[in-house]
Amino acid sequence: MVALDRLRALSARVGADPLLVQAAGGNTSLKDDGVLWIKASGTWLRDAQARDIFVPVDHGALLQALARRDPAADACLPFVRTDLATTGLRPSIETIVHALMPQRVVVHVHCVNTIAWAIRADAEARLAERLAGFSWAFIPYARPGLPLADGIAARMRPGIDVLVLGNHGLVVAADDVRDAEALLDRVVAALRRPTREAVPPDLDALATLCVGVPYRPATDEATHALATDVLALTLARSRVFYPDHVVFLGVGVATEVESGAPLVAVPGIGVLVREDAAPAVEPMGHCLADVMRRVDPGDSLVALTDSDIDQLVNWDAEKYRQTLTPPAQG
Ligand SMILES: [Zn+2]
Repeated sequence: MVALDRLRALSARVGADPLLVQAAGGNTSLKDDGVLWIKASGTWLRDAQARDIFVPVDHGALLQALARRDPAADACLPFVRTDLATTGLRPSIETIVHALMPQRVVVHVHCVNTIAWAIRADAEARLAERLAGFSWAFIPYARPGLPLADGIAARMRPGIDVLVLGNHGLVVAADDVRDAEALLDRVVAALRRPTREAVPPDLDALATLCVGVPYRPATDEATHALATDVLALTLARSRVFYPDHVVFLGVGVATEVESGAPLVAVPGIGVLVREDAAPAVEPMGHCLADVMRRVDPGDSLVALTDSDIDQLVNWDAEKYRQTLTPPAQG
């Protein structure tokens, strides 16, 4: 299908941009003849052209299940069109967001610039200034799945093709792939924020810290800013601002190797990653550094509550996603 091939190309492009998507985060979809082709849970968008990462879902049946508040709609698994499926993969845990948008093509990204706005206490008002020319809605934070579906349904109006999900990310939608890509680029440009210069890591000190412990320095220079940018570490040390942070890094940010945490930000020195950490861990640290470098000292931020965190880490669909790793790393 030509449209799906175009979506694969856009997905791979978006998935290769760490300012838009990190690891298995983000997802894209295409509606065609009653079938919602959605990125599979746990797969990486950057792999969209290298392997088959799309799962066919019965769009009508899923919408009907949502309308009758059927709990099966939460993970969407019963709605996979097994007659069309070529892999045993499950649909994205965020499939409902795509099902609720009436447009044919939907792109959901964990855009760093968007998140830097979406974690502010005054997010909706500030976004309104930036997105004045768009048909958009702000959706207050809710756990993906049925709670987020309720939040979207409450604010959806005809013609809306941009959603900013509070403490989460961005959704754009259009009837073809080219228009969705153009809309994504325009919204991201409108939401761009100034970025503080990253303070370089002390690589010699990091190497010394790694002696005799199962850690290595982060490979990407930008990740180290989580430890070397004073404001970044101050803000993120004990709080969680968006779902994928807690899912892959745990609550807050560990600062000592004795913690055994998958990622450790040594204050003023740099970031260490545990050698057996999941492939998603460093991209998540990189993302958190990128978001925090776009937050200013006076900004009032909203973190996820303990209850929000509980709901995320105990959600079965999310537990499944964490068991998956992509076949090729790099
Ligand atoms: Zn998301």
